[in-house]
Amino acid sequence: MGYNQEVYRVAADELARRRMDAEHRANALRARITAQFPRVTELELQMRGSAAEVARAVINGGDVEGIVAEVRRRNEAAQTELAAILADAGETAANFAPQYTCARCADTGYVGSEMCDCFRRLLADGAAKRLSRLSGMELTSLDDMDLSFYKDRLAMSKLLDFCRSYGENFSEESDSLLLFGPTGVGKTHVSLALASMAAQKGYSVMYGPTQQLLGQMEREHFGRDEGNTGELLADADLLVLDDLGTELTGSFYQVSLYNLINTRLLTKRPTIISTNLSPAELQSRYGVQIASRILGTYIPLPFKGDDIRQQKLERRLG
Ligand SMILES: [Zn+2]
Repeated sequence: MGYNQEVYRVAADELARRRMDAEHRANALRARITAQFPRVTELELQMRGSAAEVARAVINGGDVEGIVAEVRRRNEAAQTELAAILADAGETAANFAPQYTCARCADTGYVGSEMCDCFRRLLADGAAKRLSRLSGMELTSLDDMDLSFYKDRLAMSKLLDFCRSYGENFSEESDSLLLFGPTGVGKTHVSLALASMAAQKGYSVMYGPTQQLLGQMEREHFGRDEGNTGELLADADLLVLDDLGTELTGSFYQVSLYNLINTRLLTKRPTIISTNLSPAELQSRYGVQIASRILGTYIPLPFKGDDIRQQKLERRLG
């Protein structure tokens, strides 16, 4: 758990950029205004000196009340004059102070020792973006699932409620899920949304079509590419294997898949598998060893219905 270093660096860089931008804008404005209206500098010096004047009166035991009243009157006059000059120039004195994106933390990312919400948001967004870049997929949300495409809306809405709660409460202790059903009924959409929710909470997530992930492992194994994809897949807080069953068959894939699923089971790391295969087909394709591990420990989530892309097409034509 914890955001990837790159995600931290990008978020911290963004905060630094916002901070410098705000300060730069304030400094540039001040430089421009004081060059144009030297009187502004005089007025500011005068106002800054007034606290010292009052302090001197207190120490010297003069007519403190009278001096305070006089200083206040002069300050108000100075402020009015300053405001008038700035208004003529189309500016306000407030812009002399840096206008931070986040007023709460002045774009430092922290309020005292507490991380500010703006920093948290940057980290969550960065993690989600990184995931979508790694997987090459557009991120999805459970909220844009359209229930009108499902015949059994009640069943689907219950399934989505379960998924929403799973995503919101995701942790290293979460169960593994098996999303199964025919093509085009939202399995990829849901698995990607769950991956994105876990990533936004700061968990390391690996996501991809099974064929693509295993293909990458194979290239690395046979020295045709560099990387440690196998380790990343085994170690991620959440692994999402999309579209299991469409990958090539062969002993390398079979063994790698078994090792991956088994390792994650033994280390108690949650895995989400989506597949068009029925439980019986899983068994005949992968053998008892792999199938029994998946069917015996993953929570089965049946997706039912007709291909949504097909339905959308028919709706448009109809
Ligand atoms: Zn902030």
